[in-house]
Amino acid sequence: MAGSDLRTDRPHTARVYDYYLGGKDHYPADREAAEKTLAVMPNVRTMARQNRAFMRRATRYLAGEAGIRQFLDIGTGIPTSPNLHEVAQSVAPDSRIVYADNDPIVLAYARALLGGTPEGRTAYLDADLHDPESILGAPELRETLDLTAPVALSLVAIMHFVQDKDDPYGLVRRYLDALPAGSFLTLSQFSDELTPEETVEAIKVYSSRGLLGQARTQVEIGRFFDGLDLVDPGVTLVHRWRPDEPLDESLTDAAVSIFGGVARKP
Ligand code: SAH
Repeated sequence: MAGSDLRTDRPHTARVYDYYLGGKDHYPADREAAEKTLAVMPNVRTMARQNRAFMRRATRYLAGEAGIRQFLDIGTGIPTSPNLHEVAQSVAPDSRIVYADNDPIVLAYARALLGGTPEGRTAYLDADLHDPESILGAPELRETLDLTAPVALSLVAIMHFVQDKDDPYGLVRRYLDALPAGSFLTLSQFSDELTPEETVEAIKVYSSRGLLGQARTQVEIGRFFDGLDLVDPGVTLVHRWRPDEPLDESLTDAAVSIFGGVARKP
């Protein structure tokens, strides 16, 4: 892998997120952006961890109670165990997963996302969310997923990197339109509602480094699920979505500030 492909001189969202999660795959420019963000938004590590835990619980629900066996995860991130396929296949070993991300560092580590159980299957696409046709039409996807059977689409902590001018709602719709009834959407995104001042500062840190983010309100995040049947408890702060254990009293809603939900296509 050529160092220049990774553009290690500039921060990348996947590597900054890996830093928040305590991973090892980041460079000085990523750490600088992360530390500047932590200075204005000290809870960002909590947000990242709670978001990741939501992904795991939602996936367990989908592979378990909802009986889903096919997953399309766009905006995968740097592999962080347990990854989505490990969670799904621990519940249903025959689960098939297609991962997609547009960051070269995620591609470089994609081997950790491939493999899994002998009964199941995983594939990785180096692709951009903004181009549904190339993701949905990719031969690797077609060989792994049967698009006539239900698929769980996961867009976890990625939509805050899609600007309103790029039609985020229309994009999500184009993916869902290609999936049959009984498919699911799992989505989470960062909100500015509970920490407006901190958010303004954090967005400044990101945008001045070329990382364009867009916070949304709970209602705006809820709109991604229009036309779908939300699974209980609906669109909530992610730590409140079907927690495994009683909530830690010291964990405030403002410290999490990421809303998420799971919904079924009727
Ligand atoms: N879904 C994971 C990782 C979230 S970090 C989790 O919630 O734990 C966001 C990821 O989205 C990063 O890996 C970043 O590279 C990816 N991403 C951002 N914009 C993207 C785009 N337009 N197309 C594909 N991936 C994108």
